[in-house]
Amino acid sequence: MSHSCKSLLMHCMDFRFGKAIKGFMEEHGMMDDADIVAIAGSARNLINPETQAIALRQIEISKTLHEMKEVVLMAHLDCGAYGGSKSFETAEVEYNKMTGDLKEAREVVKAKWPELSVKLWLAHIEESDHEKKIWFEEIA
Ligand SMILES: [Zn+2]
Repeated sequence: MSHSCKSLLMHCMDFRFGKAIKGFMEEHGMMDDADIVAIAGSARNLINPETQAIALRQIEISKTLHEMKEVVLMAHLDCGAYGGSKSFETAEVEYNKMTGDLKEAREVVKAKWPELSVKLWLAHIEESDHEKKIWFEEIA
């Protein structure tokens, strides 16, 4: 029996997204068909010189060991690895930074493995005292 899977999903370690990410994986047919890398800041690690080698290594292992064909990079708003939403001047500045980092991370992966498909997703979060709403936006 071969041990191959379709995708590698890289997302942030943030516990608030656990259930939503499981739902995302089910919706996209990724459950039990994706290697999972949970790391603070997610895609940011692919463009940060201090962590790039570690992040790339995870993709390399997934590709070699499980013949993975698709990398799904998921970032989220209010990410602690970026200091949270409060560290950005406006929501627009935060949004542009997160989507910019995702796109830059995709270039890093594509430069090394042009044959891999790379998809980008941004998780939005709205939290109040008694409610939490999370939804996912695909970034082109
Ligand atoms: Zn985070």
